[in-house]
Amino acid sequence: MKLSDAANRLEGQKMFQILAKTQELERKGKDILHFEIGDPDFNTPKSIVNAVYESLRKGETHYTNSSGLLELKVAAAEVTAKSRGFKPNLNQILVTPGANVQLYYALACAVNPGEDVIIPDPGFVSYNSIINFLGINQIKIPLREESEFRLNPDDVEKSITEKTKMIIINSPSNPTGAVMKEEEINRIYKIAEKNDIYLLSDEIYARMIYNDSETQFYSPSKLDNCKERTIIVNGFSKSYAMTGWRLGVVTGPSNIIDKMGLLLETTTSCVSPFIQRAGVEALKGSQYPIFEMVEEFKKRRDIIVKGLNTIRGISCVNPKGAFYAFPNIRETGFSSEKFAEFMLEEAGVAVCPGNYFGKGGEGYVRLCYANSLENINKGIERMAYALKDG
Ligand code: PLP
Repeated sequence: MKLSDAANRLEGQKMFQILAKTQELERKGKDILHFEIGDPDFNTPKSIVNAVYESLRKGETHYTNSSGLLELKVAAAEVTAKSRGFKPNLNQILVTPGANVQLYYALACAVNPGEDVIIPDPGFVSYNSIINFLGINQIKIPLREESEFRLNPDDVEKSITEKTKMIIINSPSNPTGAVMKEEEINRIYKIAEKNDIYLLSDEIYARMIYNDSETQFYSPSKLDNCKERTIIVNGFSKSYAMTGWRLGVVTGPSNIIDKMGLLLETTTSCVSPFIQRAGVEALKGSQYPIFEMVEEFKKRRDIIVKGLNTIRGISCVNPKGAFYAFPNIRETGFSSEKFAEFMLEEAGVAVCPGNYFGKGGEGYVRLCYANSLENINKGIERMAYALKDG
């Protein structure tokens, strides 16, 4: 039986396919160091786990309000007030199962098939996959290593047409770790304003910034308080080490949040109430474990970048945020995919080919450094050795 055209356009997240392959190799006894997938290696803080037990014991095992528990929305509004300087109304907030699906809801509710959406290239794989699935045109803006992979507002401006409906930015970025500057984000906001289009700001790595020099997190939502065009995509996966919990909060103009809520209600009904209780605890409880985690990631970032730069044929710019290094591997003579294959087979090191994130990622690979310092050092050693012999 023939599948729909949309189904045939689906790509998914290919790094899950690498993970499946590495797990199969491990079952056969191969020793593999994992740098392929963006999942914090820390446990979810205990107080968050305990909040779920308590909720379950209280019997919170039924449907909730489809837009989310009031307590979680209130807590999220307060966090936004502290972190971004404005307090959204509760009808600007929607609780979702993870952040990934927010991209789908937002694109489906804001953009018609055949209209254009501007995305960074390389960029998070779901942008490409969801946009294709919905029959939307993607306009990819190449990111340049010379500007540390920050999205250039001039390039964005040149790509605007009368069909452009949304610009997606992602700072700190997956896969490059780049953090955009305040003036760059302000300029992109102005471009969106001038053309009356949406600006979707994927801020899932907002708390993961390594405060060296002048690097600061900045959100375009400061400019319109998410009342006009800014949609903040956010979730608990990365900053609270909660990837398996599937919990996120999206903030945006009330009319689109309302429709995204209807889409959630239609397809998912609501997010489990006990998982939402975990979210309340994450936002209102001690933030100390998060600070500790970010400190540790910074140490690892320093070690991995330094190590990569010692390997013949590899050079790596210093990522300012998230937990990814995105080294240039062109001088090794391998394509991105061949490099990843070679490293898996010869060195037992799993990395993600840069071209999985778009054509602009060819010649690079992504390493997620959510791994122990010991494994990072081992991984660097093994890669250097494989390339010497290779
Ligand atoms: N946005 C970016 C840039 C990501 O890297 C990810 C996950 O890797 C997500 C969104 C989705 O996160 P989740 O669905 O786990 O909340």
